Amino acid sequence: MSRYTRRAFGQAAAGAIGAFGAAPQLFAAADAKASPAAPLAVPDLPALGSRTPLVGNLAAGVLEEAARATPIVEECDVIVCGAGPAGIAAAINAARAGAKTRLLEVHGCLGGVWTAGALTWILDYANKPGLMAEIVRHLQQRHAVAHKGSVAYDVEQMKLLLEELVSAVGVCVQYHTRVVGAIKDDKNRLSVVVTESKSGRQAWRAKTFVDCTGDGDLAALAGCGFDYGSPDGGLAQPMSLMALLTGLNADEVTPFTRELAESGGWAGPKDRLKAEMEKGGNSPSYAKPTMFHLREDLFALMANHEYGVSSMDAGQMTAATMRARAEIHRLVNGLRGLGGVWSKVKIVATGEQIGVREGRRIRGLYEVSTNDLAIGARHKDAVCRVTFGIDVHSTDPTKTKGIEAKPVKSRPYDIPYRALVAKDVDGLLLAGRCISGDFIAHSSYRVTGNSVALGEAAGAAAAVSALAGTTPRETDFETIRPTWTKLQFAQAMKA
Ligand SMILES: Cc1cc2nc3c(=O)[nH]c(=O)nc-3n(C[C@H](O)[C@H](O)[C@H](O)COP(=O)(O)OP(=O)(O)OC[C@H]3O[C@@H](n4cnc5c(N)ncnc54)[C@H](O)[C@@H]3O)c2cc1C
Repeated sequence: MSRYTRRAFGQAAAGAIGAFGAAPQLFAAADAKASPAAPLAVPDLPALGSRTPLVGNLAAGVLEEAARATPIVEECDVIVCGAGPAGIAAAINAARAGAKTRLLEVHGCLGGVWTAGALTWILDYANKPGLMAEIVRHLQQRHAVAHKGSVAYDVEQMKLLLEELVSAVGVCVQYHTRVVGAIKDDKNRLSVVVTESKSGRQAWRAKTFVDCTGDGDLAALAGCGFDYGSPDGGLAQPMSLMALLTGLNADEVTPFTRELAESGGWAGPKDRLKAEMEKGGNSPSYAKPTMFHLREDLFALMANHEYGVSSMDAGQMTAATMRARAEIHRLVNGLRGLGGVWSKVKIVATGEQIGVREGRRIRGLYEVSTNDLAIGARHKDAVCRVTFGIDVHSTDPTKTKGIEAKPVKSRPYDIPYRALVAKDVDGLLLAGRCISGDFIAHSSYRVTGNSVALGEAAGAAAAVSALAGTTPRETDFETIRPTWTKLQFAQAMKA
């Protein structure tokens, strides 16, 4: 790369992903290295990676850390924590509504379960206008969606598209950064989040925050009340590690593939795939293993359940991830051993992040309930119409390793804005699977088409309240509605 292009790229990247303060200096330093004749532009940069050692006392099995000063590295209107389907939508809409917006994400890509989790399948998207429809349209134009009318997408194309979308509207992103702390002011309003990353410990101030961490990490750190798991037993739905497969011929494996097989139900292909796995010597921990066709010879596989694992326990999640990865390799090796249509099947990748169906359900001003599903609830401040039904993956493998019986018949229902407003802390909105709802309702609204819609509403609300100097609790939805509606009819990025 020439010196000119390298600088131009550095400036473009710093502007596009909004790297603050030091980034242009870092690029200047890189230039200087590339050309020995150039003077060193920033001789006072601290040695890369240098850190102030921690001070503390070890007492009775605990480390008591001494107080330390953490730099406030940025002040914004809106900070969105977590960049899954809900987080990207919240950040994009907040920025489009005119708010200076920062998006913090622990992984090295946008999309959450869509990408780091290699999910590949978008449910409940068809009645969602706005960003959800725009994402699908862009994927179709890039030939990154498998079938017309359904949304099985190419994970790498999704990563790239989401980065282009957030850059197009000026969202500032920082990857590899985990939110680990939250500070409130004396009026119980969230005002600063603290992160840990390779840059050390950093503090970020904003007028309004949106928790899109899936597990409700930010809200819990800020002291919000929450519920977890089923009312009987307290266990959450099982996790699943996704895998991408190649070496298959779509025509040959049609009978085993969701959407390719006969119309009128998914049970057939799932049951046939399970029978093949068992013929190969392994019974999958998920009794309804599913194969999705993504493009040409690229497929996705969901065949694993990790029961009784808490997303709030890193040790449990590590063990579950290792068990799941080993199981997927056993299952695919077993299929390959059968020969025939499976003779060349290979794993391209497993999810970098095991798929977490359920974490904390943060208490909001309204709790979406099972009864809402039963009656098909309607609300004046509705921000999302859910059409996906109840879908509880078994919490108890001794009863079933598939899907639990539905306690009620559900009808399409609304999620009101109030379910996105944290009850116990001001200045905080929720979007995605951590919004306020009960165990059964969560199993229905958690899918990604709804997460995007909820993120869009939270992003618009966050921007409106931040720019007006109020809190989401004080902001009546009728004040937010014009911004939210306008964004649903505009494009974030030209095709
Ligand atoms: C195995 C599996 C299969 C599923 N099948 C489908 C399906 O077929 N179709 C469908 O539409 N939906 C499906 N779902 C549901 C769906 O994936 C999730 O409910 C949805 O992703 C929720 O979106 P979200 O943005 O709330 O959370 P997530 O996608 O979980 O995103 C949360 C983001 O926050 C980040 N994060 C978490 N904690 C922190 C922190 N402390 N600091 C910074 N960043 C943080 C994470 O890295 C992640 O990027 C499935 C889920 C699973 C697990």
